[in-house]
Order: sequence, then structure tokens, then C-alpha cells
Amino acid sequence: MKDFVLIVGSGLAGATSARIIAESGFRVFVVEKLNHIAGHAYDEFNEDGILVHTYGPHIFHTKDKSVFDFLSRFTSWNYYQHRVLSYVDGMYVPFPINRDTISQIFGIKLSIEDVDNFLDNEVKNSKFANPPINFEDAVVSQIGRRLYEKFFMNYTRKQWNRVPSELSPEIAKRIPTRSNRDGRYFSDTYQGLPLHGYTKMIEKMLDHPNISVLTNCDYFEIKPELKPIMTVYTGKLDDFFGKIHGDLEYRSLKLDFKTYRQEYYQPVSVVNYPNDYDWTRITEFKHMTGQKSDLTTVCYEYPIDSGEPYYVVMTEENMKKRALYMKEVEKIEEYGEHLFIGRLAEYKYYNMDEVVARSFQKTEEWLRRKK
Ligand code: FAD
Ligand code: UDP
Repeated sequence: MKDFVLIVGSGLAGATSARIIAESGFRVFVVEKLNHIAGHAYDEFNEDGILVHTYGPHIFHTKDKSVFDFLSRFTSWNYYQHRVLSYVDGMYVPFPINRDTISQIFGIKLSIEDVDNFLDNEVKNSKFANPPINFEDAVVSQIGRRLYEKFFMNYTRKQWNRVPSELSPEIAKRIPTRSNRDGRYFSDTYQGLPLHGYTKMIEKMLDHPNISVLTNCDYFEIKPELKPIMTVYTGKLDDFFGKIHGDLEYRSLKLDFKTYRQEYYQPVSVVNYPNDYDWTRITEFKHMTGQKSDLTTVCYEYPIDSGEPYYVVMTEENMKKRALYMKEVEKIEEYGEHLFIGRLAEYKYYNMDEVVARSFQKTEEWLRRKK
């Protein structure tokens, strides 16, 4: 193949770049080391005929119209609004924390104004660094220590195997607190799941006469034989540089899927278990996909240290190493023959929409330079 762009990885970062580059007239070769496309967004029908998310629950949500419009070229949507309950003090209560959560936990009736006063009071009676220097400070500064201990402290320990004071305050930005009764997990304008699944959507993104895809192919094994005009790398950042600045740590998950012979298992898609059991949450896929069946499949998530690289671990040490690797990225991208995009390649806690937006930005910039 002559004059082609190589894409390493067929997740959302790789598929978005592949499509944009193919549509601008270049030939594109996508290599994927797994035996399937779609990366961590991969979904499939299990042996019981239920559509499940193989790498854990994925709900699409974005404020970015251009991302939504782009993906809508390849799928229609099941306009699902994500709702989560948290099992705390023997009750299933709405999460993120809103007016109903506080009423149920403390057995009090509150107006919207009362909630703001209540939280102000909780915060006033709590100690934390201001401005927040870690995850614990960031949460306590929003809701106070009592609610932090009930909803965040133990979940975070389980999820990251770290004390929350070792983790970045950035993580706390993912979870809002609401004085009203809004029980949705996300408040983004566009929310949903691809009607026929993420894999089908990504299959369509890659379905273009200029794109060839090879699965079961590890980039590092074929790298010496290929001479692309440019490589979009979406694999692990430290792997690319032979770990010269040391290992970047990931947190993984053991996902335990169980099918039950009943229509539904729990009232909503996701129930979080901050303080009880070894799992962090249970997901029931039918609630989010809208699939009808007499059976239902749920997934228990057990955080573990090693395995598939699911989560970047935002400690000071990892972030320092990341900064060193990102300097290498800057140098190498200068030559115009490489782009590093995505959750693994940038070692960043991106959501799917952010990965697509990042692919737009970096790929289009490269195309502008090339013309
Ligand atoms: P990936 O999807 O990981 O794709 C990278 C691809 O590169 C993989 O297929 C990998 O096999 C391949 N690759 C790596 N190295 C090589 C190599 N050497 N050679 C060839 N191929 C290689 N986001 C949301 O917006 N909403 C959610 O609800 C949500 N839930 C999540 C739940 C979990 C449990 C996890 C782990 C993530 C979740 N995310 C969610 C985040 C979402 O999965 C990511 O933002 C997105 O899938 C990242 O896409 P990516 O292309 O950067 O990486
Ligand atoms: N979190 C928590 N309690 C919860 C939910 C989340 O303490 O009930 C914290 C935890 O540290 C988690 C982070 O908030 O890792 C981000 O949560 P999110 O639901 O965004 O995690 P993801 O869906 O990425 O696994």
C-alpha cells in the first residue's frame, strides 16, 4: 500500500480519525490488536441474546453538537437518560446527590433553598483544604464530610485502591450535586445509546472505500515493515516510548456478567454500592438499551490492579510521568508524522464524546498542515 495513513486502534479515537482522513481522500489502514473493532465501547449480544457492554457500561452524553451530529451520521439513537441509585444506609437513593437524596438520608423535608443552606452548613462544619488539593477536599468542599463519607469515601477506596486524598481533585468534577430533584446522572443536551449498539455504529464509521481494517494485529509487531505517511496512535502512551519514563499505572475491572430468568433485576440501569460488598456497581443493560426479553443480564464491577487498562490513575506520581511522556509526544508530533489521540494515548480520563472531539481537533489540524 502506497501513501497511506496508519491508524493504531479501532476504538472511537481511531475510528473518528480514520473516517475524517478517509473522507479527505487519503487511504487509511487500521490495525487493531484485539479480535474485534470498537475498543472499550465494544458491545455484543451474549449467549442469552442480551446486548451487553463487554468492557463495562457505556452511556453516550455530550454538550457538543458537532460530536453528536457526526456520530448521528452512523447511527440513530435510543434517547436514554441515565439514572443511578446508590445503596446507602440500607436504602436505594438517587445519585448524584440531589434534594430527594438528602431528604431520604436525613429523614427531613427540604425546599430547594433549604438544600443550599443545608449543604452550606455541612461544608461549614467540615475541614478541608481550600482551594482543594485532592479528591477528598474537592468533594467535602461541595457537600461536607458526612455525605462524603456515606457516598464517596469507600466507593473511591474500592475503585482506585488509594486513599481519596492521594487522588486528583479533577475526578470530583465528574459528579455534580443538585439542589433540585433532577435525578439524571448527566445534564448534557445529547444523551443516549446508539440504537443498534456501539459496535454497529463504529463498523459504519469504518465502512468507507478508503479504509481497510486488520484485527488481531499488534502495531509493534508490524511497525518495522510499514512506511505510512502518518500514524495515528491510540494505544498506551508508555508502550509507544518503550516505558522510558516508567510505567503509567492503570486500574482494571473484573466484570462478572450474570443472566437471570426474570424481566428486570433492579429498578434502574446502575446501582452503586459505596459501602457494602466488593463490587462498586451493578449494571442492568436492558434499562439502557430498551431491549425486550424475558431474561435480563447484569454486570457486577470488581475493581482490580492488573488486566485490561480501563482507568488512568490520577495520582501526583502518575501525572508527573504523564507530563514527561507528553513532552515526548509534543516533540514527535512536530514532524507531522504522528498523532497521539485518546484515553490510552494521552493517558487522560476522557469520556467518549471528548475522544471524538479530540480526534476532530488533532486530525483536522494535521490535514490543514498537510494541504
Ligand atoms: P479504546 O476504546 O481503548 O481504543 C483503543 C484501541 O487501541 C483498543 O481497541 C486497543 O485494543 C487498540 N490498541 C492498543 N494498542 C494497540 C497496538 N499495539 N496495536 C493495535 N491496536 C492497539 N465514556 C462515556 O462517554 N460514557 C460512559 O458511560 C463510559 N463508561 C465507561 C465505563 C468503563 C468501565 C470504561 C473503562 C470506560 C468508560 N467510558 C465511558 C470511556 C470510554 O470507554 C472511552 O472514552 C473511549 O472508549 C476511549 O476510546 P479510545 O479510542 O481512546 O480508546
Ligand atoms: N464516585 C463515588 N461514589 C459513587 C460514584 C462515583 O465516590 O457513587 C467517585 C469515584 O471515585 C469514581 C468517580 O467518582 O471513580 C467517578 O465516577 P464515575 O461514575 O464518573 O465513574 P466511571 O463511570 O468513569 O467509572
